[in-house]
Amino acid sequence: MQLLQVSRILRATAPADDTLKYHVYFSAYQRSVKVCLQPRPESSGVGRAWFDVLAEQMPRDWRVEVVAALGDPVTRTLSYLRLAAPAVEDDGNPPNGCRMCGIEQRDHCSRYKTGTGWHYWVDPGDALRKARMLARRGRATATA
Ligand SMILES: [Zn+2]
Repeated sequence: MQLLQVSRILRATAPADDTLKYHVYFSAYQRSVKVCLQPRPESSGVGRAWFDVLAEQMPRDWRVEVVAALGDPVTRTLSYLRLAAPAVEDDGNPPNGCRMCGIEQRDHCSRYKTGTGWHYWVDPGDALRKARMLARRGRATATA
């Protein structure tokens, strides 16, 4: 998802209020979009409303945040956040384990697995490797 697509979604979901002041912070690399807005007192719910449609339209692996600053000068901020879900789920195997069966490359050779049959080690790919590493780190800190 690139800037053009994100700005299209933002334009399509933005509240129909020309006077609403807002800034958008966007990072394709970090998969995150953050909107800071300053609604007028009578439309303080606009931040929550925008967050709801934005969170629905942005992909699940993107972080979505809306911060509404209330008052002028600001006396209160309301913030709504949806954390990014991992694009690929951890399958409990070691990071460099075969995509098909989870066995490490060095121990793999050719193996038989019910359902997939005989196969050589298959590269798990960066996304799955990362999901496995994060899950393993989470397990390590949980037991530490
Ligand atoms: Zn395998």
